[in-house]
Amino acid sequence: MSAQPKHNKDLQQPNEVDTLRMRLETLYHDARKNEQVLKKFQHLELRLLSCSSLVELMQIITHQSRSTFGWDTLTIILHDKERQIYKLLKDAGEDPDRHEALMLLPDISHLRQIFGTIRKPILGPFNRDKHQPLFLSSHKYPRSVALLPLQRNSYMMGSLNLGSYKSDRFKKDSATDFLQHLAAVLATCLHTAIAHEKLKQAGLTDALTGINNRRFFDQRLEEEISRSKRLESSLSCLFIDIDHFKVINDSYGHDVGDMVLRNVAELLRAQLRSIDVVARYGGEEFAILLGQSGREKAIEIAERIRSIIADTTFKEGSDQASITVSVGVSTISFEKAQHDDIKTIGRNLLQRADKALYQAKQQGRDRVIFLEH
Ligand code: GH3
Ligand code: MG
Ligand code: MG
Repeated sequence: MSAQPKHNKDLQQPNEVDTLRMRLETLYHDARKNEQVLKKFQHLELRLLSCSSLVELMQIITHQSRSTFGWDTLTIILHDKERQIYKLLKDAGEDPDRHEALMLLPDISHLRQIFGTIRKPILGPFNRDKHQPLFLSSHKYPRSVALLPLQRNSYMMGSLNLGSYKSDRFKKDSATDFLQHLAAVLATCLHTAIAHEKLKQAGLTDALTGINNRRFFDQRLEEEISRSKRLESSLSCLFIDIDHFKVINDSYGHDVGDMVLRNVAELLRAQLRSIDVVARYGGEEFAILLGQSGREKAIEIAERIRSIIADTTFKEGSDQASITVSVGVSTISFEKAQHDDIKTIGRNLLQRADKALYQAKQQGRDRVIFLEH
């Protein structure tokens, strides 16, 4: 009879066999769990990679990811020095001020301090002094956090900050591979979506004044009509044309003309609410859509704009010029237009504003004319 090898003999001990089996089962269980988590991450990343709009991307990360992983609280901080992302979201119909999870900051030096030069995910207990600014929008502060730096190449774009009300959900020594991978995918997707949105925006923005162009206005017109129809609220349109603008160009030069156009655009923006649509419709002509505004309100706003412009001396450096504008105003009456389709309503609204503008010019300029439906 040959002697049993020592380790086989050891296996004969029932306790050790059980221990080994238990360890194997734990390993197997952990592997299964890991596989499930991996699948969830992969699914989320595929969704991120397949979406091209910034708004949708935000939606997926702030809502879907939270519910998939049961993160109690989540915030995204993005470096937005020139308020570009803010504007892109706003133009895409999303109000960043109302987005609870999103923080667009002009300065992210505190994030750079937190992540240091290594810029790896940080997991561990919530530290009020250090982490509070990252969870400002949360209703309740978490007890443990996972802070994921978002970076592309060496540029730090911001961070994705996850929080749990359980103190042991995110532990200091946990593996961070999945989270790190998610952060890398998210950073790339954000970068692509922002670039894509910028490009889209460039086609809808007027290069001289920075406000929207006619293409944007025409697109929004139909959306605004649908919305007004649904809400049964009024919608008004203003056409504003600078009087004798040719004379400004001829007398002071094209640069002064450009300066006036930029300043008028800025003045219009400042006078209107963020929900109003303002566009440079043509050379020295601007168009405005006023939601939830009927005849009285539209005329009041038009008159205010006319009188402020007439009282303003536009200046930039040594250049200065004064102008007046003529304004044509029209309003949709949904009672009269209830059977018309959106395109017909839009055409009618613009035609009346244009006709009203023509009459304002005919009657001597520097005035507001309203044309009934
Ligand atoms: P009215 O009161 O009848 O509107 O007279 P007007 O001179 O404003 O109208 P007209 O259509 O005769 O001339 C418009 C002028 O606007 C002519 C054009 O050179 C000028 N213009 C159009 N686009 C620009 C621009 O981007 N920059 C400058 N500086 N001028 C522009
Ligand atoms: Mg003109
Ligand atoms: Mg004109």
